[in-house]
Amino acid sequence: MDLSSSILEIKGIGKKIAEKLNKASVFTVEDLLYTLPIRYEDGSVLKDFVHADFDKPATYFVRLVEKKPRRYLKKGLSMQTFVISDGARKGEMTFFNMPYLDRSLKVGEDYYIFGKPKFFRNRLSFSAPKFFDEAKQKEALAVSPVYPVLGGVGQKATARFIQEALRDVFIPPVVPRYLRMRYGLMTEAEALKVLHGPKQLNDAKVALQSLIFSEFLCFQLALGRFHQSKSEAGFSMEKTDLAEVILSKLPFELTEGQKEAWKDIQQDMASPNRMERLVQGDVGSGKTVLAFLAMATCVASGHQALFMAPTEILAKQHYEEAFDLFMPLGVRVELLTGSTKESKKKIIRENFESGICDVIIGTHALFNEDLKSDRIGLTITDEQHRFGVMQREALQEKQSKSDRLIMTATPIPRSLGIVMYGNTKISSIRTMPKGRKAVQTTVINESGLKGAYDFMERFLKSGQQIYVVCPLIEENPDFPLHAAEAVYKYFSEDRFKNYSVGLIHGALSSEEKNAVMEAFQKNEVQILISTTVIEVGVNVVNANLLFVYDADRFGLATLHQLRGRVGRGDQAAYCILHSANDSLKADERLRIMERSNDGFYIAEEDMKLRGGGDFFGTRQSGTVEFRVGDLFENMDIMRYAKVEADAILEGGHLNANEEPDLLKAVEAYEARTRGI
Ligand code: ADP
Ligand code: MG
Repeated sequence: MDLSSSILEIKGIGKKIAEKLNKASVFTVEDLLYTLPIRYEDGSVLKDFVHADFDKPATYFVRLVEKKPRRYLKKGLSMQTFVISDGARKGEMTFFNMPYLDRSLKVGEDYYIFGKPKFFRNRLSFSAPKFFDEAKQKEALAVSPVYPVLGGVGQKATARFIQEALRDVFIPPVVPRYLRMRYGLMTEAEALKVLHGPKQLNDAKVALQSLIFSEFLCFQLALGRFHQSKSEAGFSMEKTDLAEVILSKLPFELTEGQKEAWKDIQQDMASPNRMERLVQGDVGSGKTVLAFLAMATCVASGHQALFMAPTEILAKQHYEEAFDLFMPLGVRVELLTGSTKESKKKIIRENFESGICDVIIGTHALFNEDLKSDRIGLTITDEQHRFGVMQREALQEKQSKSDRLIMTATPIPRSLGIVMYGNTKISSIRTMPKGRKAVQTTVINESGLKGAYDFMERFLKSGQQIYVVCPLIEENPDFPLHAAEAVYKYFSEDRFKNYSVGLIHGALSSEEKNAVMEAFQKNEVQILISTTVIEVGVNVVNANLLFVYDADRFGLATLHQLRGRVGRGDQAAYCILHSANDSLKADERLRIMERSNDGFYIAEEDMKLRGGGDFFGTRQSGTVEFRVGDLFENMDIMRYAKVEADAILEGGHLNANEEPDLLKAVEAYEARTRGI
């Protein structure tokens, strides 16, 4: 068995389970092994009641001294309390809806329990601790990984499958030996073994760093290889008359930041060298119009342009806007997404090849299309940070001489820009269109919820609409977080039953998503509950309140991005960030959002706070998504990876003779991050 084998080869995984795992995008042994624990439960810390730790879960060795009768609370909820003793003091543990415990737990027996006690009615009280029979001491005192629930496969089963796979799989070392020596890293095989079953938590740290280095090295090599393969030469496109017409038709004047960026783009496009430019600017800073101006310049100079947006909704929005601007000028714009009919696609393809069509706006479906034209002069990626870097590269490959413009609403600090974009030039828009109001942001905890709902109600009464964002779709016993489906039920059947509530999430088909979005746009839906799938810039001017549940679970970049959806009209706009996390650090992070509406400032502050931060923090920095690493938290590793990747490429060492395993891994990386 190797990493690319199907999960069906793993003992215990049959068709049914494989189907479930597929739903969570786990297809190969590699996918499964790289499903890393989200955290560990460290059972090795043994405590007694006097030294109880109220902040951290620990193991307690206790005797069951009394069973209290089971109690029935409201609908379908039963509760049972057991009195326990650590030899010196008494305490209790409580379980909900686990009636079978009444029989399986026995008075007079000893158990290891693992949990975080509270002080309740003068006693230590554990709510639903994990427990082990005395005979299972070894298991009880181990460090055990906790996995996410994968497409309905429970985490215990996941742990078992992973151990099975680890026993049989062959994992070649990717990072060359001299680099492992230099940085004190484990091989990928060792690292995976440790991460899935560490003897102590500290081992897991080194193991994780080893995997991150491996991932970043492949990333940097893939990026470097691509840049090497590209020509410096490009087209010289300098006819700006069409762009001038568009400028004169706009109902506004460009802001200072837009003007500067436009000047940069014009210069780059006019030059005979290939343009390689990133425009970064907050949501609402007006990047789209720059894309249109570049498109106009490209078309006026006799070339064709491709514009890729991260979602269908956004592509359609861009298309409609572009259509209105370009049609009267005789420029033919087409929309091509995954849901475009095959027959229509064919026509667009032909029209593009024959030159009848000048511009195609679309989603990633664009680079699956075999578009043949040697007149493509410009590719634009409205990245909204959603595409992996390599996906953008793939679009570029359509025409290696064409200019490239990337737009992102996730400003990254300068220091990061250098490692992530290499030679790409960056224009930053730091001004906002006139009249744009700051979104008033408030952080609330659990006890603030009621007040927040009241505020929402008043808001709805005034005729305005609300976005609600949840971190999960379905409820999950391992994460006591607000799930979109549960919130939808509560809102639509109870708290806001007099209003129309809509639900949208990643598991819906794009038709379903579009239907809900359209209803929201038409104000037929007043409250839109979603996961972050729709974080991209949809424009609903009447929606001026954003409510985020468990905001501490999101990266600040994502929150900032989400917040950009409100405050697009004349009304005052609000953002309420809920968090049940009472750690100081989590609070400090969210307070940055209260303080500022400037994405650049937020990114810098976020990085300061995170620097070397949580071991297993949110692995979602809001920028490029890596499988293991986090760009913000592991920036140092990324720097080293870049230095080493550059050295390997400069020396020409990435070949089948010198580094066969590394080469294979880089190729696999390219395929994986490009594959749709
Ligand atoms: P983003 O940078 O998030 O992509 P958009 O390009 O979608 O921002 O612009 C947001 C809104 O601001 C659009 O409705 C756009 O027409 C408007 N806009 C863009 N530039 C200006 C400007 N200079 N003055 C006023 N409104 C502008
Ligand atoms: Mg945009």
